[in-house]
Amino acid sequence: MFQAQRTFRFAPSPNGALHLGHIYSALCNHEMAKASGGTMLLRIEDIDRERCKPEFERQIFEDLHWLGFAWPEPVRRQSEHLADYSQALQRLRERGLVYPAFLTRRHIREAVARAENAGHVWPRDPDGAPHYPGTERNMSTDEIEQAFKSEKSFAWRLDMQKALRTAGQSLSWNDTGAGPALETGLIAAEPDRWGDVIIARKDTPTSYHLSVVVDDALQNVTDVVRGHDLFHATSVHRLLQVLLELPQPAYHHHPVLAGKDGRKLAKSQGDTAISALRERGTTPLEVIHLCETTARV
Ligand code: GLU
Repeated sequence: MFQAQRTFRFAPSPNGALHLGHIYSALCNHEMAKASGGTMLLRIEDIDRERCKPEFERQIFEDLHWLGFAWPEPVRRQSEHLADYSQALQRLRERGLVYPAFLTRRHIREAVARAENAGHVWPRDPDGAPHYPGTERNMSTDEIEQAFKSEKSFAWRLDMQKALRTAGQSLSWNDTGAGPALETGLIAAEPDRWGDVIIARKDTPTSYHLSVVVDDALQNVTDVVRGHDLFHATSVHRLLQVLLELPQPAYHHHPVLAGKDGRKLAKSQGDTAISALRERGTTPLEVIHLCETTARV
């Protein structure tokens, strides 16, 4: 029977050095692609122009080549495809599903503190951040025009309740991995746990969530394999896929490697950076062995 070629992707952000945790993720992708006779793409997620640096990108290529990874060219670099994200944003705007949000972090903190002091429970997203108060959700076109003219900075936020009504179906995904609570199988998506998420910014017509779903669709990615730290983000991705009529990939959220403190290995823990290991004389095979033997969370 004809079976479509499966496409996986490893999608690092060049905002720091690759460490063992990234390589573990690349290995999971590589092994699953190999086992299914599929391909693993490399994608550079560099929309955050402040934190992403060309030298980190160069280092990513160097580290991956040194470890023996190969991928088809050309590599998609998100910063070169802003027009694709603009188009998707425009579709959401035309349907009134996003609104410009002008409150700064301080404003949000103050609104939350006022509500909590008055005894209300303020909802938090899966990362622990308070939901956006949605102050501008019902702004008139005139008010929006005025705010634009004031040249204030803003973010495009998804009107979550309206988006859920528009999607009009219960959302789920199939996960062959194990999420934070070892969930596997058919997972019910809960995008409303995120509140009105940021979809794009004034100066960049996208955010992590929007560019990931647009790219996965444009690159015909059939399998998303990534750390379970992104498990809850998949709820938002499923909602955006339905709203933008994009295909649904299969998901596999794998455990993440632990640092000495027993928590997720972070970029700041430089001693597991691939470049540092290499300088200390570690061989590629030893790096792969370290990935396989480091404790996971
Ligand atoms: N760029 C993201 C990261 O480095 C990964 C995104 C994804 O795999 O969906 O954490």
